[in-house]
Amino acid sequence: MSNSTQNKGVSVITEEVCQQVMGRSDAFSAVENVFAAMAKNTAYNFPVIREAIGHADALYGFKSGFDRDAMVLGLKSGGYWPGNIEQGLTNHQSTVILFDPDTGKLRSLVGGNYLTAVRTAASSAVSIAHLARKNAKVLGMVGAGHQSTFQLRAAAEQRDFEKVVCWNLHQEQIPKLAAVAQELGLPFESVTREELCGQADVIITITSAFEALLQAQWIKPGTHIACMGTDTKGKQEVDSQLLAKATVFTDELAQSITIGEAQHAVAQNIITAADITPIGEVINGSALGRSSQEQITLFDGTGVGLQDLAVASVAAQLAETKGLATYFAL
Ligand code: NAD
Repeated sequence: MSNSTQNKGVSVITEEVCQQVMGRSDAFSAVENVFAAMAKNTAYNFPVIREAIGHADALYGFKSGFDRDAMVLGLKSGGYWPGNIEQGLTNHQSTVILFDPDTGKLRSLVGGNYLTAVRTAASSAVSIAHLARKNAKVLGMVGAGHQSTFQLRAAAEQRDFEKVVCWNLHQEQIPKLAAVAQELGLPFESVTREELCGQADVIITITSAFEALLQAQWIKPGTHIACMGTDTKGKQEVDSQLLAKATVFTDELAQSITIGEAQHAVAQNIITAADITPIGEVINGSALGRSSQEQITLFDGTGVGLQDLAVASVAAQLAETKGLATYFAL
């Protein structure tokens, strides 16, 4: 942050401004860089807090961390308020708070709702960029909720996809995702889960499921699968045997084995933590990514606080430069 910006006080970047300034390519670079920094141990996530607060059925928590490469320190706070939808608000609410790493002074307050979707989509997109076959043609979407359209848009930029196939538990949500595929010029077909696996070269799972939706034997050789929905203990999207068949990558190992898709395979002794590679190592070139056309690669995208801080920091810088931030003194 420049001295002139610092002198203006604490910057506030609203949800609307985040949507104006934060594009997919900036989010992609921010997330790719922070995964790389995590693998070099120059960026750290601190332990996550998540609590049922006993009011409004809400789950509240915060994720924090420090990226020494990018000099970004802060936290994302918020959670899940199931009654919000009746008030015309989204159920997931979050705000990112950035601090000056040199002094600890509050630097920025940044709306976190839009950025959460953008950084999650960037995460699966980074995994596709580094792990999917170059000649992938069919994209399979398992899930058609709020996150899915962001996921589709970001994934579509990584390979020359020719078609999207989709399965979703709630049929009424599918047209919204189909409309995005149409906007991107991609034919869209709603199929069964087994058909989806039979056709797709790249699969993104982004659901709130608590059981395996995709069986290991359905997945074709050469598939890349980004499991993005499982971010809590007990959730599950794919057969745990798939993690033995696939080469497994993750954003953060500690989360992958406790709250991510790998939690089940590890608990059942199907794989161990040593079988999982942080994707940052692939980005840095210190680990191998895909090694053959037949290999199945699986990315366990659990969602880390540093991703939120990375995109929020870029959004704050862009908003400040463009004169779209407001300021207050503290
Ligand atoms: P949403 O509520 O808008 O959509 C939920 C999706 O899950 C829908 O497609 C719905 O049909 C499906 N679904 C619900 N129950 C299901 C079940 N029992 N079996 C199969 N499908 C089911 O939610 P969203 O905002 O799109 O988020 C989707 C998931 O992604 C959530 O689990 C959320 O916690 C997770 N998420 C992960 C990250 C990350 O970084 N990994 C970030 C944000 C959200």
